Amino acid sequence: MKLYNSLTRTKEEFVPIDKNLVKMYTCGPTVYHFAHIGNLRSYIMEDVLEKYIRYVGYPVKRVMNITDVGHLSSDADTGEDKMLKGAKREKKTVMEIAKFYTDAFFEDCRKLNIKTPDVVEPATGCIDEFIKVIEGLIEKGFAYEAGGNIYFDTSKLSQYYVFNNFAEEDLQDGVREGVEKDDNKRNKADFVLWFTKSKFDDQELKWNSPWGVGYPGWHIECSCISMKHLGGDLDIHCGGIDNAFPHHTNEIAQSEAYLGHKWCNLWFHVLHLNTNSGKMSKSKGEFLTVSLLESKGYSPLVYRLFCLQSHYRKSLVFSYENLDNAKVAYEKLLARIAKLSKDGEVDSAKFEELKKIFTDAMDNDINTSLAITALYDVLKSDANDATKRALIADFDKVLSLDLIEGADNLGKNDEGADDELTAIVNEAIARRAEAKKAKDFATADKIRDELKEMGIMIKDTAQGVVWEKI
Ligand code: AMP
Ligand code: ZN
Repeated sequence: MKLYNSLTRTKEEFVPIDKNLVKMYTCGPTVYHFAHIGNLRSYIMEDVLEKYIRYVGYPVKRVMNITDVGHLSSDADTGEDKMLKGAKREKKTVMEIAKFYTDAFFEDCRKLNIKTPDVVEPATGCIDEFIKVIEGLIEKGFAYEAGGNIYFDTSKLSQYYVFNNFAEEDLQDGVREGVEKDDNKRNKADFVLWFTKSKFDDQELKWNSPWGVGYPGWHIECSCISMKHLGGDLDIHCGGIDNAFPHHTNEIAQSEAYLGHKWCNLWFHVLHLNTNSGKMSKSKGEFLTVSLLESKGYSPLVYRLFCLQSHYRKSLVFSYENLDNAKVAYEKLLARIAKLSKDGEVDSAKFEELKKIFTDAMDNDINTSLAITALYDVLKSDANDATKRALIADFDKVLSLDLIEGADNLGKNDEGADDELTAIVNEAIARRAEAKKAKDFATADKIRDELKEMGIMIKDTAQGVVWEKI
């Protein structure tokens, strides 16, 4: 399997440090608001990566943090703590906000068939670990105290900008929203490991430390949580592209300075989901969430398919028109799978031949776009129905689109209906979907009414349109 490594800027053969346990770390959400569907694009693509590594036979231990302290409005350590901002906005405590949005995040993940990582650790649960590592960094001469805060000294490194291949605007993405100058820093790139009360009096969550009452910086949490659960090395570290700088750059700096050796082999970065008006942001007014899509009649799995139709290393533009296309594709896919007979024997030679189209796509840097095409190749092939169903079920261990379950739900509609009626109804449903896509709701409603007159009731569900005789 080849994976692109942001660190070496090449596609590399993936060789785990220990083939008995692949160690994977994912930057988790900052739980001060709902996750937007851009955040969730990253988690969907990381989920597919994890599932594919398992699919090819490696056990995986995946760890994710929950950022519930220390992530300031600007990734460059300035502004207010995002959690405090959320708490003030909703007149709740930081911990209430953290609990609410952590639960909301996992509920979105559940709807999108994103597996919960093996370990999920909130930053506030690891304060002792942060202090231990920061003490180690001070001892080794990589950190200093200034103005009450502890900073990492980037001048002590032979190379700090490890991801400097990224376009200037990608790097700038990291340093969002109004950067203020911090005179305590010895070097421009230095970053905070520990903030003290002296800087942020209104910080709600504070802990004792050898440097005074305060709280950790955002970057230190990921290094420490990874080391706590995965030890001193790591196969893959994941995150959205905006995290490459400064967050991941700082994680590498402090982890390797502390450990005294290379820390993580491969960096997997997911490019952004954008709208026509630009980047998605939690801090800008109404933003796109899974619930919003649901309220507009889109199944979360339609959004998952929409993401899988593109490669993770290309930025993706969200529009309702594009999502409508994914919806039609999903409904048609389920309808075609529903037509496959469940009888017969799987032809193992054919199975292997067609599976190779899927694995070739995925082995080439998780090319989910071609992996989706492999589904159509299976459906179009001369394989028997049992083999087709087995292949689709097999690919869906990675794609997680509920293809068999969804198709079987559709199949339930036509119990007792003959093939002719099924064909007529499916054709009408497809026409209705096309009409909705073209925003021709009058025609869509007319088709529904015509079906009703024929004694057919249709319903929009999570897996698409289902129907029954009334
Ligand atoms: P946050 O909750 O802001 O810490 O971000 C959670 C994850 O979403 C991180 O991996 C980010 O890099 C990623 N992310 C943020 N914005 C986007 C976007 N527009 N598209 C894809 N991923 C994103
Ligand atoms: Zn992180």
